[in-house]
Amino acid sequence: MSEELVRGCFYIAASILFVVGLKMLGSPATARKGNVVSAVGMLIAIATTLAAMTQIKWTWIITGVCVGSVAGALAAQWVKMTAMPQMVGLLNGFGGLASTLVGWSEFHAKWAPAEATGLFTLLAIFLTILAGGVTFTGSLVAYGKLAGAMTGRPLLYKGRNIVNMGLLVVIVVLGILLCTQKLNQLDGAGLKGVYILLMGIIALALILGVLTTIGIGGADMPVIICLLNSYSGLAACAAGFIIGNNVLIVSGSLVGASGLILTNIMCKAMNRSLANVLFSGFGSAGYSKAGEQGEVKPISVQDAYLILEAARNVVFVPGYGMAAAQAQHAVCELGDLLERNGAVVKYCIHPVAGRMPGHMNVLLAEANVPYELLVEPQDVNPTMAIVDAAVVIGANDVVNPAAREDPSSPLWGMPIVEVDRARTCIVLKRSLNPGFAGVDNPLFLKENTRMLFGDARASVGFLVSEFKR
Ligand code: NAP
Repeated sequence: MSEELVRGCFYIAASILFVVGLKMLGSPATARKGNVVSAVGMLIAIATTLAAMTQIKWTWIITGVCVGSVAGALAAQWVKMTAMPQMVGLLNGFGGLASTLVGWSEFHAKWAPAEATGLFTLLAIFLTILAGGVTFTGSLVAYGKLAGAMTGRPLLYKGRNIVNMGLLVVIVVLGILLCTQKLNQLDGAGLKGVYILLMGIIALALILGVLTTIGIGGADMPVIICLLNSYSGLAACAAGFIIGNNVLIVSGSLVGASGLILTNIMCKAMNRSLANVLFSGFGSAGYSKAGEQGEVKPISVQDAYLILEAARNVVFVPGYGMAAAQAQHAVCELGDLLERNGAVVKYCIHPVAGRMPGHMNVLLAEANVPYELLVEPQDVNPTMAIVDAAVVIGANDVVNPAAREDPSSPLWGMPIVEVDRARTCIVLKRSLNPGFAGVDNPLFLKENTRMLFGDARASVGFLVSEFKR
């Protein structure tokens, strides 16, 4: 068997593992194994690629592997669960930077007049540095917004969409200029000019990444991170075409496609279009509706305990506040106590609860909540009227009935968990402040709603103590 055939077989095996791993990531029950399966695929792909390289300086490779492994292992230990969204953003950015560097270095390697760099390779280089550059700086801004290092409010100025569009047009024109160069016919000065052109495109792509991301609100960053994830995949795919590496093309396409699918799912769950997320500057202004009827009814821990003690059907609805308070372990303990008390307990996870896809799934899995107790809004909403107690733990927008009742609300049309239709709804949060969307929540004024004010972890802890007493 030829060496190339063996290499192809290993690449196919790695690609199959990527696809199987991705499929397993679709369910919380198999996600951990899916991660391992994909990692094994990546190991095979890297080892096969390295084995095929003839001119290779192993000291550089080993140093890179050691530095990367140590940094990855430390980050995995140190980064808190609540900081995962920005961590994912940062990793996307590094992917984009790596692809940009591949495009840049391959241009160096291939611009020698002896080697005729054709239109196809130059196009692949252009797409790599464009997608990679935008991903890198866009991800850094997303990181800054999510980590609180910069304001989460969208930075808006008049005509920003026109400026961004204009910049993209300039980059595309420069790209066409780059792709139509006949490098093997140019002299030294000509080649230098093309090199400056390439560096100019990289610089403009980096600027475009910043400008397009600063105009988007901090809470839309998870959608943007998915989109940038997709871009980083496209950049890797294009880089695969430059260096002629099939497994990079396959893995890049998988990342590109899955990132796009996830972006679409999140937009749908918020009832917003991608264009609205990218261009509307959502989150720059609050919204409150005058004349809401009803009064807020605070409740003590003891009274909340009495309601839960009598409840036979309980639904927990976690949101961003549960992550902020790190209340997931206490919530799981309360769920266990309720079950032992004879109640049927479910945990309803809205697709955009929290600040990243699967945020609540990850936290509840960390607290060992059984997967079969996790349900989606469409599973509980039809039976909400027979739920004795819906317990909202630091969720706000995803339970806002204005999405159903008020056509003028920015949340209008967003599918929500309809806790307002439960027999009693207990909301655990610290104040009446709105959530990410900046929209007042009429749920707090409903007849059947009771507000248990305070930090979610402390409040759930008090409830647990009451049950244990
Ligand atoms: P949310 O609407 O942002 O509300 C979170 C609530 O948690 C706040 O109102 C806050 O109220 C409360 N809170 C904060 N810290 C707390 C603590 N220590 N203890 C108790 N409560 C605390 O959250 P959500 O209902 O989960 O909705 C998520 C929002 O993010 C949606 O608007 C969604 O569209 C958006 N989003 C999510 C994603 C994603 O991937 N998940 C992506 C894009 C956008 P107090 O300050 O009064 O305590």
